[in-house]
Amino acid sequence: MAYPAPLEALVDAFARLPGVGRRTAERLALHILRDPGSRILARAIETAVRDTTRCKICRNVCEDDPCDVCADQDRDASRVLVVEEPSHVESVERAEVWPGRYHVLMGSYNPAEGGAVQHLGIGGLVERLNAGAREGGERIEEIVLGMDPDKEGEATLLLVLEAIESTGVEVRVTRLARGLPAGSGIEYLHKGVLEDAIEDRRPLRRR
Ligand SMILES: [Zn+2]
Repeated sequence: MAYPAPLEALVDAFARLPGVGRRTAERLALHILRDPGSRILARAIETAVRDTTRCKICRNVCEDDPCDVCADQDRDASRVLVVEEPSHVESVERAEVWPGRYHVLMGSYNPAEGGAVQHLGIGGLVERLNAGAREGGERIEEIVLGMDPDKEGEATLLLVLEAIESTGVEVRVTRLARGLPAGSGIEYLHKGVLEDAIEDRRPLRRR
């Protein structure tokens, strides 16, 4: 016997989430139906989807476009910290260790899986770099590559570095200091470690 259509639709919706198989999707959907707090969850999802957008400059999730960071005239627009996820911006902002702007890739490249990289915000970064190099543009002097110190992070870093170099635009490229504990995500770092990683960032050039 099949589930009622509305429940089936909910299962399908869950099954679209990354890493969620059919079995888990069913379990989640059935749990939701039993949970009295589900209306709150449903409203929260609807509101979050409706009331957030993506910053056209840094691609971060925000309420107003451009986001608060990009709109802030006191931030150093000539320096851009490239990170994988919005949660990384959140951590760095909370630690108050970065005076510049950001560029959010919205993911990373997994070399084991291969596949497309177009969904990553690398093209947007190249555009920012090129726009800044044009007459009257907001010039970018330094790009800090702030990927996680893991395999995906390294692979992503190389992709971004290649893209930057392909523009031919004169820009200082650095990466966070190697003091980052291997495998630990940026969002879990303490303020001090994050501060050191940014302070001690080092120049990066493949050639
Ligand atoms: Zn922004």
